Amino acid sequence: MSEQVLAVEDLHVWFDLPKKGRLHAVQGVNLELLSGERFGLVGESGCGKTTAILALMGLLPSSADVSGSIILDGEDILAGGERSMRPHRWKDISMVFQGAMNAFNPVQTVGAQLIEPMEFHGVATGDAAKKAAGELLELVGIAPERADRYPHEFSGGMRQRAAIAMALACSPKVLLADEPTTALDVMVQAQILDLLTRLSDDLGLALVFVTHDIPVIAELCSRAAVMYAGEIVETGAMETLYHDPRHPYTRMLFGAIPDPEGEKDVVSIPGAPPRLDREITGCPFAPRCDVAFERCRVERPALLELARRHSAACHLNDRTAS
Ligand code: SF4
Repeated sequence: MSEQVLAVEDLHVWFDLPKKGRLHAVQGVNLELLSGERFGLVGESGCGKTTAILALMGLLPSSADVSGSIILDGEDILAGGERSMRPHRWKDISMVFQGAMNAFNPVQTVGAQLIEPMEFHGVATGDAAKKAAGELLELVGIAPERADRYPHEFSGGMRQRAAIAMALACSPKVLLADEPTTALDVMVQAQILDLLTRLSDDLGLALVFVTHDIPVIAELCSRAAVMYAGEIVETGAMETLYHDPRHPYTRMLFGAIPDPEGEKDVVSIPGAPPRLDREITGCPFAPRCDVAFERCRVERPALLELARRHSAACHLNDRTAS
């Protein structure tokens, strides 16, 4: 049976704005991740997905105020700030960024950059680290000899593979992948998705895959959370979210997927998400919701558990709704 490796409880992220005021970018996010599980975090740009996972890595700028708990293997790694985060970052919880080129130092060989986290965390040093770097490249389908090459000598797809190898250098339990296929062509995208699937199956790696691309999540993940305006508005098994969405935003997101058979119309979601530097009264989705009613404009819906591991934040699920 899979074990829980990560639990995020009531995670909030605030940013101080340059002039005055604060932006509430992540609002009470709760997540649970089991070993070997592939979990999707989905939503439009600006809904807080990337901010949430950067908070899990402790990589937000100092202007961010983060609260809540990030429990990794039973320890709250947020409680002691940077002192308690540092021993776990890249070792137990690791990340693949959107643009692989940005993940690498252009003046260091790829091999040297694979070795660095291993040496920092005392996982391997010297020849052992060099050998491990070659093995990591092999694991992601790159010839080990290429360890001596510089990032610009790699193609886009190969760089993304190397970025995955770097994230795996210390054998993490949790891998956070932030839109890792967005900049790649369709063929390379499919190869990277296959690679991530294989790695999570073979290594028992828990994967959080962040994207606005629902078909990608549907292919890769067994469970997902839908984020809107900084909060999770629905979470459940992919099957459930697809066939029985209980939040209008989830239904509309899935409705916006192009149908390859051309049998159903693609319906886009009107309007734009709300600004998070202003106070929101009622349901944040109300101005765009096609079934909003009076209560939605005055009362914010809470995330309610509808069935085991299926929750949604919509007044329509509340039997007392009027
Ligand atoms: Fe729509 Fe109301 Fe549900 Fe919000 S609470 S998603 S406005 S029906």
